[in-house]
Amino acid sequence: MRDFSSVQRVVVKIGTNVLRSANGGIDTTYIRDLAEQVCSLVNAGKQVVVVTSGAIGMGAAELGIGGRIDTVKLRQACAAVGQPILMNTYKEAFSRHNTSVAQVLLTREVLDNRTSYLNLRNAIETLLSLGVVPVVNENDCVSTAEIGTTFGDNDRLSALVASKVDAEVLILLSDIDALYDSDPRTTSGAHPIRTVPQITDEVLAAAGSPGTRFGRGGMQSKLAAALVAENAGCPMLLAHGREPHVLSRLLAGEEIGTVFLAKRRLGNRVRWILNSEPQGRVTIDEGALAAIRNKNSLLPTGIVRVEGVFPAGAVVNLNNCGKIVTSMNSHELAALAGKHSREIEKLLGGGRKDFIARPEDMVFFDEDS
Ligand code: GLU
Repeated sequence: MRDFSSVQRVVVKIGTNVLRSANGGIDTTYIRDLAEQVCSLVNAGKQVVVVTSGAIGMGAAELGIGGRIDTVKLRQACAAVGQPILMNTYKEAFSRHNTSVAQVLLTREVLDNRTSYLNLRNAIETLLSLGVVPVVNENDCVSTAEIGTTFGDNDRLSALVASKVDAEVLILLSDIDALYDSDPRTTSGAHPIRTVPQITDEVLAAAGSPGTRFGRGGMQSKLAAALVAENAGCPMLLAHGREPHVLSRLLAGEEIGTVFLAKRRLGNRVRWILNSEPQGRVTIDEGALAAIRNKNSLLPTGIVRVEGVFPAGAVVNLNNCGKIVTSMNSHELAALAGKHSREIEKLLGGGRKDFIARPEDMVFFDEDS
């Protein structure tokens, strides 16, 4: 039995296709309806963070750009034009309920960096305590995949936000009404899956097509979001955004859409390591791997190879089995590779740490931490 009626903090993500009108612009009536639904949750004492897509689509409509928006610079230009249109529409819709909205634009770097993330968290906490509804989008104008600052899609962004603000439930409103056991557009008799207890290979195989012209979502990115949410102890609900009263019905536990159950609630620091974009890779030998799996610190002697250029404190991949926060930068690690810890002082000078990473700086993908 589903029941989310007692949750206090909810993240709601709205996809581009849901808020687009037939002529390609923004569907003001829909946003007004959504604002009404969100405000009734807020009036019932809940805190709601909205994550919205649509900047690129609205910008393209405003500029009369047809066809694919597939160059990075055109996506950025459209987003810069569309974002204020989007925010104006949200502002107008929420003001009908005497509720203020706040624009929050994020890049991956902001969430990956511990300091800027903590600042963000404080800002969001303050907004929520003031009864304001934060409206989050990716800062598309400055994030590009080339420099590794992009989330890739707002599904993943919304799951990271849900994880960072410790939301109790994440709701994805899409133009897809549920996860199906096969592609409903091509398979007659495809069945909706109402509950996904865990994201297995079979579930991943059921995910079909990539995104659309403006949005990057699609079932694969919904499952990527669910993977982030399940480790944050946050169940994820996927439903059609045009379903009447969808938010209150989902929270009341009605069997619509698909619920992805939470697996475990990893600690905040572990989630940060797991969800951060790795800045490089450290390869270590079998002996070192066995030692650190046995809860020992990683020492320089086990290092075989260092790839990438990264600072001390960066999150990097460890072989293919996990991630670590490294206490030394990539040049120092390369200089120390295969050396005994007592050589650290000789090679790097005094006052240095005598380990590369402690057990609390490591996460293994296959382990319940
Ligand atoms: N941030 C993009 C926008 O606002 C959408 C990305 C996505 O659809 O996932 O247009």
